[in-house]
Amino acid sequence: MNCEHDDDLLDDYVDGVRATDHVSDGRFAAFEQHLAGCVRCQALVADLTSIRLAASTLDEHIPPPRLWARIASSVDEQQRRPWWQRQLGATFSPWVPAAVAASITVLVSDFFLTKLFMIVT
Ligand SMILES: [Zn+2]
Repeated sequence: MNCEHDDDLLDDYVDGVRATDHVSDGRFAAFEQHLAGCVRCQALVADLTSIRLAASTLDEHIPPPRLWARIASSVDEQQRRPWWQRQLGATFSPWVPAAVAASITVLVSDFFLTKLFMIVT
């Protein structure tokens, strides 16, 4: 095994799972054998373990129920928008397609009026 092992093995190891807990799965034993001789993976396990310990000391913050209601409302609002508006996001106002259509109409009308004027004169 090299350092390209399954991240789940590393996560499980940091969470305290050992090869003796999964005797039938040889991946855990192979990971631990690799870990014993790999400074890079040992440093990664040490970093993740310290992060895990630091995170366990943080206060638990439970978001207020109205926050979830607002998130759900926002998702519903996004789903109701036409596909092109969802693709463009909030960058353009809903009036942009109407403005583009009006501009094209003016350009085409101007083109034909110019041609008509040239024929008449
Ligand atoms: Zn390694």
